[in-house]
Amino acid sequence: MKVNKAEYIISAVGPAQYPNDGMPEIALAGRSNVGKSSFINKLLNRRNLVRTSEKPGKTQKLNYFRINDAFYFVDVPGYGYAKVSKKEKASWGHMLEKYFAERDMLHAVVHLVDLRHPPSKEDIQMHEFLEYFEHPIITIATKADKIGRNSYHKNGQIIARDLGLRPDEPLIYFSSLSGLGKDEAWKELEKYL
Ligand code: GDP
Repeated sequence: MKVNKAEYIISAVGPAQYPNDGMPEIALAGRSNVGKSSFINKLLNRRNLVRTSEKPGKTQKLNYFRINDAFYFVDVPGYGYAKVSKKEKASWGHMLEKYFAERDMLHAVVHLVDLRHPPSKEDIQMHEFLEYFEHPIITIATKADKIGRNSYHKNGQIIARDLGLRPDEPLIYFSSLSGLGKDEAWKELEKYL
């Protein structure tokens, strides 16, 4: 995908603020600090369109980015940040449930997990949640450069097993430093655009 234009549009708290121009959406979800902002910036060739290492748990909004005036990336607030209060967690849950359950324009979800570790309980819950709503899921295993290449497959197998990925569901090894997996990720995403 050649990205000519990528612009921040809105931070939405609910349906009233979602864009209504009928363009497809691809949502991106993952644990805080998994490398989601870095992934988006890398795919878009933008150094800092999405702010990296922002205090996790702070942005409880769906951040919309319009790409090439053709589709949206929807950055979903990261989960798993311990310091978030129960009340905040509940409002996060409600907002996401509403979005994932009802949003017709959502064509696919990128779910980011850390290639170095087995999926957390929350990673597994998120995957189940997305499956329940029957969204196509593209799993991205981040920070690949932090482990040796000979561990990719072993770690990848554990992730695929714990998340319950079907053989036809993609798992892409990714590094925002080296760009590993970038072309493969776009190839998967383009199927839903
Ligand atoms: P987010 O909270 O999921 O948006 O995560 P960020 O994109 O802000 O990344 C969290 C931290 O991990 C930052 O310090 C990034 O520089 C680092 N990081 C993200 N992706 C990678 C990667 O592929 N390789 C390495 N080595 N570090 C990464």
